[in-house]
Amino acid sequence: MADQTNNADGAYKGAATMDKISSLAKRRGFVYQSSEIYGGQSGAWDYGPLGIELKNRIAQNWWREMTQLRDDIVGIDAAILMHPRTWEASGHVENFTDPLVDCKKCKARFRADQIPPENLSARKCPDCGGELTGTRKFNLMFKTNIGAVEDSSSVLYLRPETAQGIYVNYKNVIQSNRMKVPFGIAQIGKAFRNEIVTKNFIFRTCEFEQMEMQFFVKPGTDVEWFNEWKKRRWAYYEKMGVRMENLRWHQHGPDELAHYAKDAYDIEYLFPMGWKELEGVHNRSDYDLRRHTEYSKKDLQYIDQDDGNKKYIPYIIETSAGLTRTLLMVLCDAYDEDTPPATDGGADGETRTVLRFHPALAPVTVAVLPLMKKDGLAEIAQDIRAELKQDFSADYDHAGAIGRRYRRQDEAGTPFCVTVDYDTKEAGTVTLRFRDSMEQARIHKNELAARIRQEIKDYKRKV
Ligand code: ATP
Repeated sequence: MADQTNNADGAYKGAATMDKISSLAKRRGFVYQSSEIYGGQSGAWDYGPLGIELKNRIAQNWWREMTQLRDDIVGIDAAILMHPRTWEASGHVENFTDPLVDCKKCKARFRADQIPPENLSARKCPDCGGELTGTRKFNLMFKTNIGAVEDSSSVLYLRPETAQGIYVNYKNVIQSNRMKVPFGIAQIGKAFRNEIVTKNFIFRTCEFEQMEMQFFVKPGTDVEWFNEWKKRRWAYYEKMGVRMENLRWHQHGPDELAHYAKDAYDIEYLFPMGWKELEGVHNRSDYDLRRHTEYSKKDLQYIDQDDGNKKYIPYIIETSAGLTRTLLMVLCDAYDEDTPPATDGGADGETRTVLRFHPALAPVTVAVLPLMKKDGLAEIAQDIRAELKQDFSADYDHAGAIGRRYRRQDEAGTPFCVTVDYDTKEAGTVTLRFRDSMEQARIHKNELAARIRQEIKDYKRKV
């Protein structure tokens, strides 16, 4: 079993590698390369049958935590295409750039801040030693045009973050839903960035999804709220069952701070390729609403009725996580290899690949497997599956030896398997097998739904 209990030295000790994760993802239908039959489109990925289930569950879990379980946060779904002035006001037209260098010889392209400084100063390509071009600023926004005529008046951008869709609707939400500061607006949606270097599978892509929440607070209370949201986001990952020894905080130094930020921390996860940003928690000050006031000429001040109708521009605390990046984190965190005992139906000494998803996130919650296809067992199993489908995502499989079928479900991360045998016919009992421990319990089929529901609620990862 992979030992991840001690990473005081900060080194990755899990069983996953990016190669193993991406090949499992393809084999089992989590993630495919975009337009693969044409040779693939870099920076874009497609989510298969298990991948979309996992992505939806992660999104629903976040949404529930950030909106349904709170009284002071509501959701919106803003359009990807926004008025182009939005991106002037936000600072993206001017500042959302990466420093870019090209090799004149091998044509490789690099982010100047990601190659060794000695290569940059000597203008030598880190790949082939060829001469590098000077550093150019490269804007990460995708430009497109609206309407039939392509000129400067028809330019639009694909949004590079979901946050701006929230800011431009902040007044609408206050008016339509009578929200009072402090309050938040949450949104999940696509974002697009023309990333210079896309690598590490779905970690950094040109098309991705974000889960963002913008919390509007009274100036002067922002530091307190910033700390509060840092605490809450940390607790969220704990509740999700993530291996907490693989998470850490990273505070942005002065040269890392974005143009809008007063203070910023990232939650980093220890991926197989090292510690990388998973989510940002930012104190954006009053920058955004001030800029939108200036560019739109609309008064975006909040009138505080609980404080003598005092007017102010709220400060914003942002929590910004990548949905697709979280999916990669969940895959890496769940990935494990171990050796099942022969009693689990496999050959002695065989290694299994298992995804130890939290049962609330697993794409398939329960698989129903008849021991034999004959003697009416398949029909009983189908009936049990139909019943369980009312409450859970339930699969059915009768192909191959039972051990093989367990292995297939383990690899898909299915936390529970129900086996139907001759006793089911006689006494109505089934075995409920647990993915992580491979232990089995014999229970009546009528108790299945309640037992599974309880197991999901009580789940604590032990291995
Ligand atoms: P980086 O510095 O790595 O380019 P960033 O600091 O600009 O990223 P943010 O703008 O803070 O990232 O975005 C918030 C979150 O959105 C990130 O923590 C990450 O989870 C996700 N994200 C950002 N860019 C991408 C991308 N190209 N592909 C996938 N997810 C991304």
